[in-house]
Amino acid sequence: MISPSAIEEFRTSLRGPTVCLGEAGYDEARKVWNGSVDKRPALVARCAGVGDVISCVNFARANNLLVAVRGGGHNVAGNAVCDDGLVIDLSRMKGIRVDPVHRTARAEPGLTWREFDREAQVFGLATTGGQISTTGIAGLTLGGGWGYLARRYGLSCDNLLSVDLVTADGQFLTASLAENAELFWGVRGGGGNFGVVTSLEYQLHTVGPVFAGIVAYPIQKGKTVLELFRQVTGAAPDELACDIVLINLPDGTPIVGMNICYNGPIAEGERVVRPLRSAGSPVLDQVGPIPYTAAQQLLDSFYPFGLHSYWKSSFLKEISDGAIDTMVTYCGRRPTPICHGIIEHQLGGAVKRVDREATAFGQRDAEYSFMSLGVCAEASEAEECTRWAREFWDAMQPWSTGGVYVNYLGREADEGSGRVEAAYGQEKYARLVALKNKYDPANLFRFNQNIKPSQAAQVARSA
Ligand SMILES: Cc1cc2nc3c(=O)[nH]c(=O)nc-3n(C[C@H](O)[C@H](O)[C@H](O)COP(=O)(O)OP(=O)(O)OC[C@H]3O[C@@H](n4cnc5c(N)ncnc54)[C@H](O)[C@@H]3O)c2cc1C
Repeated sequence: MISPSAIEEFRTSLRGPTVCLGEAGYDEARKVWNGSVDKRPALVARCAGVGDVISCVNFARANNLLVAVRGGGHNVAGNAVCDDGLVIDLSRMKGIRVDPVHRTARAEPGLTWREFDREAQVFGLATTGGQISTTGIAGLTLGGGWGYLARRYGLSCDNLLSVDLVTADGQFLTASLAENAELFWGVRGGGGNFGVVTSLEYQLHTVGPVFAGIVAYPIQKGKTVLELFRQVTGAAPDELACDIVLINLPDGTPIVGMNICYNGPIAEGERVVRPLRSAGSPVLDQVGPIPYTAAQQLLDSFYPFGLHSYWKSSFLKEISDGAIDTMVTYCGRRPTPICHGIIEHQLGGAVKRVDREATAFGQRDAEYSFMSLGVCAEASEAEECTRWAREFWDAMQPWSTGGVYVNYLGREADEGSGRVEAAYGQEKYARLVALKNKYDPANLFRFNQNIKPSQAAQVARSA
């Protein structure tokens, strides 16, 4: 138990506001993107800056409090908010400074990609970010991060030049290739395991306009369009990124759709994308030259806050005929119109060309990522959607690499043990454990896709 006076002293020491159980704004402060997450933290600290983050880390450590770290609040596992403990909420830390001369940006972790892209695009610049503009830049980047630009410019974490972070002992460190290089290796894929990142410095690139949009066909054409997707993406230039999804449109029409983005000369994009738009009469074809910021918001309306979401994901070795048939079969019997299956082609290209050992991100060889998404508006439908997503995922496993993207993992209770290790592979996981032993031996930052410190490190720490 922490005395009320100690809590009060802590709260008044912070520059940003705090919200406790029972106070106005508490329910809003504990909401995250996934409507299935219903956690009740003791305290949410809406940090205003690095000073607040250091105070939060020190207070949590001194009082043995469970800590959750919140960026954009998008993670499907809901790890941005915990029961009983302290939420270090960074969502108000939204500073960004773009340096158009050196093509870099220094950004705070409360920014979403929509906010980041807006500032960078003022100068015609961008870096690899996620495809839904409400996602936080920090959680996405620390787990790897891919989107329309990844095949050309690498993952979000490949574009990191440095980070500032507050480690479990309350120290403020900078990590880059030149400074704390092993820690820098670890934060590029290792998630929030090593500290609270308070600033991220990115390399930017000249981007836009892009040739992008959605093309969709009746779901009955699922097999044909999946085969076409396989053929086109199998020979795609780095400039082309594309996902395929079987879902219903908001008006109820069941479709097989592709969101496409060609980041290169528009005329060339038109030529490269043409086959994807030529599979018969589309239900929808909105592909054309658009600003990069518009491409980044194309799918937002499909992923609003508050729906109940259960995801299962794997990298695919290939899109075999069997995988196509399985996609068609399961997406033909979705329990709700918003349950869906996706294959993403955001990897390969520049992602594959980065040295395997350069970052903690573990899965550079696979080009396709598969997801079954059990999604519904009503809690009463969630069980059935979860069952469907699990069965669908199980049926796709013959074509899985066995690896998974750490940012798409659900709660450990749902995923089972060993999935975090599967995201990194044995060797990288061992290297991450060594880093965890050094920077967080007591596992203060454990409410995440956790890299567990070894027992020996924990014992040495408590001795
Ligand atoms: C609809 C949707 C679309 C997505 N699309 C993509 C995509 O296109 N590409 C892609 O790569 N991923 C995508 N993702 C996955 C996304 O990368 C993860 O959900 C990511 O964790 C979101 O980051 P966040 O800051 O919004 O999340 P939060 O839920 O706030 O944070 C997730 C975790 O990240 C860690 N974390 C966050 N901020 C910090 C920090 N400053 N310091 C230390 N640790 C921190 C914490 O462990 C936290 O629990 C998508 C997710 C959703 C829900």
